[in-house]
Amino acid sequence: MRYVSTRGQAPTLGFGEAMLTGLARDGGLYVPETVPVLTADEIADLGGLSYEEAAFRVMRPFVGDAFTDAEFRAAIDAAYAGFGHTARAPLVQLAPNHFLLELFHGPTLAFKDFAMQLIGQLFQIALARDGKRVTIVGATSGDTGSAAIEAFRGLANVDVFILFPHGRVSDVQRRQMTTPSEDNVHALALDGDFDDCQARLKDMFNHFEFRDAVGLAGVNSINWARVLAQVVYYFTSAVSLGAPGRRVSFTVPTGNFGDIFAGTIAKRMGLPVDKLVIATNQNDILHRCLTTGRYETTGVTPSISPSMDIQVSSNFERALFDAYGRDGRAVAQLMDEMKAEGGFSVSQGALQSLRDLYASGHVSEEETLATIARMRATTGELLCPHSAVGVAVAEAHRDPSVPMITLATAHPAKFPDAVEKASGHRPPLPDRMADLFSRPERVTRVPNDLAALEALVHERRRR
Ligand SMILES: *Cc1c(COP(=O)(O)O)cnc(C)c1O
Repeated sequence: MRYVSTRGQAPTLGFGEAMLTGLARDGGLYVPETVPVLTADEIADLGGLSYEEAAFRVMRPFVGDAFTDAEFRAAIDAAYAGFGHTARAPLVQLAPNHFLLELFHGPTLAFKDFAMQLIGQLFQIALARDGKRVTIVGATSGDTGSAAIEAFRGLANVDVFILFPHGRVSDVQRRQMTTPSEDNVHALALDGDFDDCQARLKDMFNHFEFRDAVGLAGVNSINWARVLAQVVYYFTSAVSLGAPGRRVSFTVPTGNFGDIFAGTIAKRMGLPVDKLVIATNQNDILHRCLTTGRYETTGVTPSISPSMDIQVSSNFERALFDAYGRDGRAVAQLMDEMKAEGGFSVSQGALQSLRDLYASGHVSEEETLATIARMRATTGELLCPHSAVGVAVAEAHRDPSVPMITLATAHPAKFPDAVEKASGHRPPLPDRMADLFSRPERVTRVPNDLAALEALVHERRRR
């Protein structure tokens, strides 16, 4: 299995290299050259399997010879062993033909654990085999950083540094980053906002001397291996509702388009997906693009679903690549236009193909809070604000004859203030992390200064 860049210029890579590289050298994102298709029998056979076995069967064709079967199985087993639910991704029913896919039973209570836990294991196997070390540096507004630290803590060949904006993440998010005691973990509280964190991270990647000296690696959501890991739960949930004999639809709370793009891959692999619905909060660049054909930034408005507060949706580039008939040059042109003018218009043909694949909707802050309250009252379920955005959009797109699965992307206890404001209930942390607030914290306050950050990484990383 080979991977090609969405901008058509970078060399094609195997799965292992694409995973360790992250971003392609032409600035594009890696996508599989061809998408393997599972037969109806192969899909039906996933029913009743453990999540781990289903994961192996769904992902195996994408991995090629990068890992042996035994290595890949061991990585999957280790990745999900720390989840708080044996089903890993259980479905609960909200209403007739409306289901919630709970993706928040991982160690940091957000769906990002599904991918991050797996790539932690895969990085470790690949690096140990080649005798290499890497330094992972990430910027986070909360969920990605905690998931990355949890996935890479204690791994022998990896040092992990996470930049988060000082004073601007929730207490639960901060403690998930500052309480791991392993000496390869470094939580850095930067004096600045999330954009400053991301800008310094970009500076480090563009400083080639530093990048090569420390073996810098990225694990943000454009990493193909993260998308792949998320394909699995589209299959397991659909099969448990009768696929492939029955079509199902999905609504996905969306920010960087990684999670819903995984649903797109599942569909292309042969899963009978009726609708894929993009749900956004008031930061609705994707909904506006599908509605008007114009993809344009308007600045970020902070919301109660902060993990979806984005300016540009990085993984959307993968959908554009397909919509433009896999023409890398056309995609590169759009991205240049984006850089120069802050936006671009999607061609008629490409827009039509996007509209054939995706529906979309956006939700105000008030509707989000009202949805949390209503779901608590009518079903007993407490939703996190991101999942509530999904449920509200799903209700507007429901076809009573097709089961709708809404993805619940975080546990309500990760966003207790918004949930309490909406419902009057303050969700407690699950038992297995009830001591989060009594564990000692370890954090370094850092200035918003590239030279100081690079010096700190040099000094702290193990050799
Ligand atoms: C990251 C995140 C999202 C958005 O996922 P994308 O893959 O970026 O679209 C939604 N909800 C939560 C809780 C998240 O952490």
